[in-house]
Amino acid sequence: MMRPACTRTVAAFAVVVASVLVAGCTAASSGAGAPSGTAPVGTPTASATSVASASASPSQVAARLPLAGKVVGIDPGHDGGNFNDPAYIDRLVWNGREYETCDTTGTETAGGYTEAQFNFNVASYLRADLVRDGARVVMTRTSNTGVGPCVTKRAEIINAAHANVAIDIHADGGPVSGRGFTVLEPVADGPNDKVIAASERFGADVRAALLADTSMPVSDYYGHDGLIFRDDLAGLNLTTVPKVLVECGNMINPTDAALLTTPAFQRALARAFTAAIVKFLTGR
Ligand SMILES: [Zn+2]
Repeated sequence: MMRPACTRTVAAFAVVVASVLVAGCTAASSGAGAPSGTAPVGTPTASATSVASASASPSQVAARLPLAGKVVGIDPGHDGGNFNDPAYIDRLVWNGREYETCDTTGTETAGGYTEAQFNFNVASYLRADLVRDGARVVMTRTSNTGVGPCVTKRAEIINAAHANVAIDIHADGGPVSGRGFTVLEPVADGPNDKVIAASERFGADVRAALLADTSMPVSDYYGHDGLIFRDDLAGLNLTTVPKVLVECGNMINPTDAALLTTPAFQRALARAFTAAIVKFLTGR
């Protein structure tokens, strides 16, 4: 869920306390972004196998993988420990245009399945798929038991890795009658100016892959035909790499929730994101 009311309600007093809070929040969460997936694994394609003789080295085989040499950032929204540390996640950070809270708890289904867990599961499946295809993957968090990091730190981690592309994974807390996914895209604000066009291309690839590879429809209550531009989120405002944020469905809606909480559907989402990333980075 990415529309906290707090972005509006905190603005009035943010000016007074912001500098202290930004420093405190940004400094707090080091260590959560350790690069992962540095050792590409996987099976070469049939054609690669037929070409590869016994003399082909592992590095030669790896170089034939579709994402060899590419770096992909994954930001699984929120964190499982956020529920226990409101003081930490409620501190204010500058997102490039305005102040927003360091993080939020995210939403959850009526049955209590948290968005943080969903996001982390999909991210883990996606990471495995990408590594199998030869990519180096950088995650903004590597467990679902911590707190944060702040949304600004998440952007920093992916920017510092010079990712070729990145995806923020979320699920929405919308109206109970509303269904579907929405791809959120950045709006030019200075830091992200050079990646606006590329992010739009990637967003189109993600939208197409979700429609082709999953049963989730475009949202019928949020955005326009599965897309929306957002200028109030740190992850999009501060990015220097092509990036979109995906609300994969509405956890409040029973039909969407039944899908979102199913491992098979979470894997399907990961495969769709992998297909979109391969398409965006290689044209294939
Ligand atoms: Zn969220």
